[in-house]
Amino acid sequence: MAEKDYYSILGISKDASQDDIKHAYRKMSKKYHPDINKAPGAEQKFKEINEAYEVLSDENKRRNYDQFGSADGPAGGGFGGGAGGFGGGAGGFSGFGGGGFDDIFSQFFGGGGGRAQRDPNAPQKGRDLQYQMTVNFEDAVSGKTTTIRYGRETQCDKCHGTGAKEGTQPQTCHQCNGSGYVTSVQNTPLGRMQTQHPCPTCGGTGKEIKEKCTKCGGSGHTNESHEVEVKIPAGIDDGQQMRLQGQGEAGKNGGPYGDLFIVFRVKPSKDFQRHGADLSYNQNISFTQATLGSTIKVKTVYGNVEMKVPAGTQSGTTFRLRGKGMPRLNSSSKGDELVTVNIVTPKGLNKQQKQALKAFAELSGEKDYKDGGFFDKLKDAMNGKK
Ligand SMILES: [Zn+2]
Ligand SMILES: [Zn+2]
Repeated sequence: MAEKDYYSILGISKDASQDDIKHAYRKMSKKYHPDINKAPGAEQKFKEINEAYEVLSDENKRRNYDQFGSADGPAGGGFGGGAGGFGGGAGGFSGFGGGGFDDIFSQFFGGGGGRAQRDPNAPQKGRDLQYQMTVNFEDAVSGKTTTIRYGRETQCDKCHGTGAKEGTQPQTCHQCNGSGYVTSVQNTPLGRMQTQHPCPTCGGTGKEIKEKCTKCGGSGHTNESHEVEVKIPAGIDDGQQMRLQGQGEAGKNGGPYGDLFIVFRVKPSKDFQRHGADLSYNQNISFTQATLGSTIKVKTVYGNVEMKVPAGTQSGTTFRLRGKGMPRLNSSSKGDELVTVNIVTPKGLNKQQKQALKAFAELSGEKDYKDGGFFDKLKDAMNGKK
């Protein structure tokens, strides 16, 4: 699932500490900064480095990435994709204190499609959420519809998301004229740099709320316990995800709700081992069933079925029951069940049974019972008992 290996982009190992990550990031981003490195591909590389850092420097995102191969859990677009995706980055960068370096970043982000150029009044999609759902093996076979409940930010119904008191409207910010950003100019070792900061008056929203909504306190959002119906698809496997559009958190400025990603954790079966859509199963059979051939009953996830064991079957032979495996997602087909038979050596034979086996061995020309593993074992077992 992981498309990019953030660790190798930064040239670090998977168990790198936050200090290692910071160090590697600082080194790599200096090397590939487009103001310094004019080689073709340097800018792309620089973006990747930033993307990698943005994820790995955030313990939550890093955990999600390690687990799901995606930056913010299953949430789309790691880098600036989510609303306010850069928010955390700014704090991290200021920690470097590398002379004019911070300004280069501000500059870069300002010009590179980051937040500085985003219209703060443009509709923004809400945050995506993730929900981990544990599913019984049986429910994974048949599928199931269930209802889940979780907390999310929803649009305030009193102010309809504006944050302004009833009967009032937010005003365009007088300091930034609605852009959400103010610009300052600084001299740096690399020349004059323009730096953009979030507007201190409106905090980057571009709007001033004179009287705040009494329900949400001006945020435009309230928390709710939200309920949604989830159809667990038949055949779902451990670690697979489902996206429920619009079940995430409320957007801003009339933007749509984010999405909810359900991550399924399917419990293992005590009888079957799963390999994608195929299931494997171990079945004991007797030595006579294996020798003479037989029709036996075998457990499947759809109930017991009859299976033919041909005469002369060896222990460890695997038979395929077609269509008795897991349903395949988005398909009407099913996997197979792979039945491996184990021949059980008889124990505790009575006198007559022993006589019969000895006679059988003699008829097979195995007077000293040395020929053939099964009879060796049988003899040993019987000797041990005597
Ligand atoms: Zn409100
Ligand atoms: Zn402002």
